[in-house]
Amino acid sequence: MTLTARPANPTAPRVAIIGGGIIGLSCAFELAIRRSVPVTLFDPAPFGRGASWAAAGMLAPAFEAAAEEGAHPHLFDLCHHGAELWPAFAADVGQAAGTNLGFSAGPSLALAFDQDQTADLHHLARALDERGIAHEELRPVVARETEPAISERLVAALHLPTDGQVDNRAVVTALIAALQACPHATLRNEAAPLEDNGKGLHLPGHDAILVTAGWNTAAVKVHQNGDLFSLVNWDTSLDEINCIGGQMMSVACGPDLPKMTLRCGPIYIAPKADRVIVGATMEPGIATAAPEPDKIAQLRADAARLCPAIAEAPELETWAGIRPGTPDRAPLIGATATPGLFIAAGHYRNGILLAPITARIMADLILGGPVMPLAREFRPDRAYTTA
Ligand SMILES: Cc1cc2nc3c(=O)[nH]c(=O)nc-3n(C[C@H](O)[C@H](O)[C@H](O)COP(=O)(O)OP(=O)(O)OC[C@H]3O[C@@H](n4cnc5c(N)ncnc54)[C@H](O)[C@@H]3O)c2cc1C
Repeated sequence: MTLTARPANPTAPRVAIIGGGIIGLSCAFELAIRRSVPVTLFDPAPFGRGASWAAAGMLAPAFEAAAEEGAHPHLFDLCHHGAELWPAFAADVGQAAGTNLGFSAGPSLALAFDQDQTADLHHLARALDERGIAHEELRPVVARETEPAISERLVAALHLPTDGQVDNRAVVTALIAALQACPHATLRNEAAPLEDNGKGLHLPGHDAILVTAGWNTAAVKVHQNGDLFSLVNWDTSLDEINCIGGQMMSVACGPDLPKMTLRCGPIYIAPKADRVIVGATMEPGIATAAPEPDKIAQLRADAARLCPAIAEAPELETWAGIRPGTPDRAPLIGATATPGLFIAAGHYRNGILLAPITARIMADLILGGPVMPLAREFRPDRAYTTA
């Protein structure tokens, strides 16, 4: 442990964080370790084992945001600024926990194997041109020299220097270790006893409450006069969070498998130090509990079109996760109508990418400091508008 905590700030509010996925853990890291603010993190389930464990760890502002139809008009800006915060965040978290997070700032390759996919790549390139984001069209022969694992059926490729990755499981493990060693942070493996005390929302011993319970955020419980209400019913200015199921698998690393992250439509191959992740299904409205063999087999077959060696690579693990979504595919970040109650949830398919920027915004808001103007666009009470 080399990132030493300073003494607690005696004037800081005592913050309760409800939900210990990457968003809650990152907010706790920003508050307790970077800013010496006392924090209690509540989660009745094992910390870090929700969507944040299921994810692929791609940090992909270009591919994710520029290609998304119908997304919040400023989502790309949030993703782009979020990616800029990752190098320092990875260094600080890695240093605090004394571990390597497998962080790489980029690049990734977006691939096309037929006419429709080539049209999608051109659409992506135009969107990146309009925003002045670096990218380069590669001839198939050049792309295959860069990453020899790609199928020889490749038709077109786009080099995305801004799209990196991290080992998301290493990140949440490191965040937990760093917080456990921090004198300003308390991790409680239980639900927070939130109560309506007649004046508002109350949690004994705390001045501010930040809910980061992923797709369960709306369902967090509040005690009122002996009854239990879901947060979304108790504070009716809040909104439901959608769930979008996703199934994935990992295979063993091997000499014929990719070393770079490869993307093609919804299919991707994301190599980590000890496994190669193959993803992912998109299943709106499905709180998928377990992976289904037929969907996993289809996923492997689809990924083998990008990289033939995937077909025979030894399977390590299959799993299912739930992306927390909103109607405009952007997170809800900020204060609510209830004094002292803050929300950071609904990060959909970019929660790993957006963890450091969410943590910075939430810490600035809770501590009353200057907040980046972009944050206003993602207020929980916003009207949904799409690009
Ligand atoms: C298959 C898949 C692939 C993905 N790939 C990527 C990717 O490559 N890059 C990327 O940026 N994002 C990716 N994502 C999205 C990303 O994983 C999520 O946006 C992110 O993990 C959300 O983090 P979270 O902390 O809000 O939620 P979670 O990680 O789900 O954490 C929420 C926590 O809240 C807890 N909780 C629930 N109810 C309560 C309660 N009442 N009280 C206290 N705690 C509670 C849960 O136990 C859980 O620990 C992917 C997601 C999936 C499913």
